[in-house]
Amino acid sequence: MSVVIIGGGISGLALAHGLHSRGTEVTLLEAGPRLGGNIQSRHRDGFLTEAGPNSFLDREPTLRALAASLGLEGHIRTADPAAKRRYVYTRGKLRAVPMSPPAFLKSDVLPLGAKLRMMGELFTRRAPEGDESLAAFGRRHLGSAATAVLVDAMQLGIYAGDVEALSVAAIFPKVVELERKHRSLVLGMARTRAAERKALPPGQSAPKPSGAVCSFDGGLQVLVDALARKLGPVARTGARVTGLRREGTGWRLAVEEHGQRAELAADQVVLAVPAYVAAELLRPLDEKLAARVEGIAYAPVAVVHLGFAPGSTPPQDGFGFLVPTLERRRVLGVIHASATFPWRAEGGRILYTCMVGGAKRPDLVDLDEEALVKLAREELRELAGVTAEPSFTEVIHWKRGIPQYNVGHLERVAAIDEGVARLPGLYLIGNAYKGVGLIDCVRAANELADTLTR
Ligand SMILES: Cc1cc2nc3c(=O)[nH]c(=O)nc-3n(C[C@H](O)[C@H](O)[C@H](O)COP(=O)(O)OP(=O)(O)OC[C@H]3O[C@@H](n4cnc5c(N)ncnc54)[C@H](O)[C@@H]3O)c2cc1C
Repeated sequence: MSVVIIGGGISGLALAHGLHSRGTEVTLLEAGPRLGGNIQSRHRDGFLTEAGPNSFLDREPTLRALAASLGLEGHIRTADPAAKRRYVYTRGKLRAVPMSPPAFLKSDVLPLGAKLRMMGELFTRRAPEGDESLAAFGRRHLGSAATAVLVDAMQLGIYAGDVEALSVAAIFPKVVELERKHRSLVLGMARTRAAERKALPPGQSAPKPSGAVCSFDGGLQVLVDALARKLGPVARTGARVTGLRREGTGWRLAVEEHGQRAELAADQVVLAVPAYVAAELLRPLDEKLAARVEGIAYAPVAVVHLGFAPGSTPPQDGFGFLVPTLERRRVLGVIHASATFPWRAEGGRILYTCMVGGAKRPDLVDLDEEALVKLAREELRELAGVTAEPSFTEVIHWKRGIPQYNVGHLERVAAIDEGVARLPGLYLIGNAYKGVGLIDCVRAANELADTLTR
């Protein structure tokens, strides 16, 4: 059996590795000059910056296991413990996000009325039929103020999306399940915890899921480079797939490789490309399927790194801060990159990573580099009191950055799965369908590797 994977981001790479290590004949074709897709770590002027993802959440063994299979376990680095502290910019200042119920009671992150409303969660009425936006779900359980501040901030840090458009069932399936079973989330969590405690031998306490923020000593690129080394000639860069057609029981691909046109045959083909690329390749095969895939929207994001000389800015506290849409500011959030990952800034330098744009302000991502640096500096000055001149700047434009799992996403993906099943030997993976995080991409790749080698 021969498999061709189109796309050399983490999804395609993890799948290629899974198949190659089990002896399957596999070829990976990547259009760009380098592997890794969104993952790009860069070393410059004493800073280690990430163009795309910054970290992964170590809440399940998936990514750690991939790293271990590549001999990289010793290179995983956990964020500084202080990064557990997170802030939200609300009502004119940065306020700490409380991490426990007692801290919540004392916290000023919400006004008193909003905190009292949150306590009414116990009396939440059941969900209406069908999919619901994250905002509607949040308002029903926590009230409108908590939704506009805390729920919006939470999604901005992952999706840079529109809280009124995102589907709660697609992005927080476990929370929806908790509601389905218990109506109230507070009740559901209390009952789940009690059941877990009951299942444990006497005297033993339940292990806490780590959920630590992690990266690698040389940035996430370390993972990509190790995959590239392991795959060797299996992974071909500068190889853009321009067409796909059925041939007998297999597939034939049109490829432009380093300026040359060629055709390649495969028994199985995996599209590990963004949805808008997959749609173009699928259009001649199934117009309706292509339209469904193309309907997955992307939020544009600009990443602005600002680096400062040691001691020139106030000390960074915690992981960073998020800025809810209701504040009408121009940054979505800021990562205190050098406090979270001290090894990413040499000799006490300070690194801020500002996220701009998202589903609600896509226009900002059209700004040029100079305008984005100016914008990020103004926002950092006004929100965090950073007045110094940066010694280092870097801007990355992601015109189609993060896929948006908007209301109806689960039905769309189910219909896409049905359409794909009518094309035997063709598969779709990637961050557009069943999880946008690096861990989700690797998990989906592992599952497909199992399916293809069964
Ligand atoms: C700014 C930003 C910040 C993020 N932060 C985080 C984070 O902190 N933590 C986290 O877990 N996730 C984060 N994410 C999400 C995560 O980066 C992505 O979900 C993940 O990297 C997607 O991997 P992928 O392989 O599915 O897609 P991609 O990385 O998009 O890879 C697709 C590949 O397909 C190639 N390709 C396209 N067309 C063709 C063609 N015709 N032929 C051949 N190849 C083609 C592309 O060149 C690309 O290399 C972030 C994303 C962005 C944009």
